Amino acid sequence: MKGYVQVYTGDGKGKTTAALGLALRAVGAGLKVYLAQFIKRGTYSEINALKRFSDSVTVEQFGCGRFAKGKPSAEDISAARKGLARIKEIISSGQYPVVILDEANVAVSCGLLAVQDLLDIIDLKPEDMELVITGRDAAPQIVEKADLVSEVNAIKHYFQNGVTARIGIEK
Ligand code: ATP
Ligand code: MG
Repeated sequence: MKGYVQVYTGDGKGKTTAALGLALRAVGAGLKVYLAQFIKRGTYSEINALKRFSDSVTVEQFGCGRFAKGKPSAEDISAARKGLARIKEIISSGQYPVVILDEANVAVSCGLLAVQDLLDIIDLKPEDMELVITGRDAAPQIVEKADLVSEVNAIKHYFQNGVTARIGIEK
């Protein structure tokens, strides 16, 4: 089956969960999924849930556990670069028909990765692999290169009223 490059961006809620929904569907179809999470570190409830599908889903985190604001630390950058190398390895292995790079757009906009790094990954994608990239502030070059781009627009978000991420709902 031919695979495409999908991007879920925008400032509304639903980017990561859309990618997780796609992963669930893929698992149901017997497809193996590789999920890399940038920025994030630690227990997100989806990681717990995906453990039940450990024969079909591999999850790896390449973040330092916070939104990198301002100048990224050397630790943030080295975690992201480690992710980049690992993802290239995974894609080249041809073992995963579905690869999801959660928050990769944020890794680029924070300066943890160069846009070119992400473009190189897209170039590496074999014909039959689906590549999903999530995160607000997708770079125009990524949008240009993708086959599908969905922008989640925040008409309202309770974050604005001080509601931070809740276990089971946002994390
Ligand atoms: P979900 O994982 O629920 O699908 P998402 O992937 O679309 O959401 P992200 O952009 O990855 O959402 O946001 C991660 C978290 O950042 C949110 O769960 C929320 O707590 C917080 N957040 C939401 N809006 C803002 C904002 N304007 N600025 C900073 N943090 C925000
Ligand atoms: Mg997200």
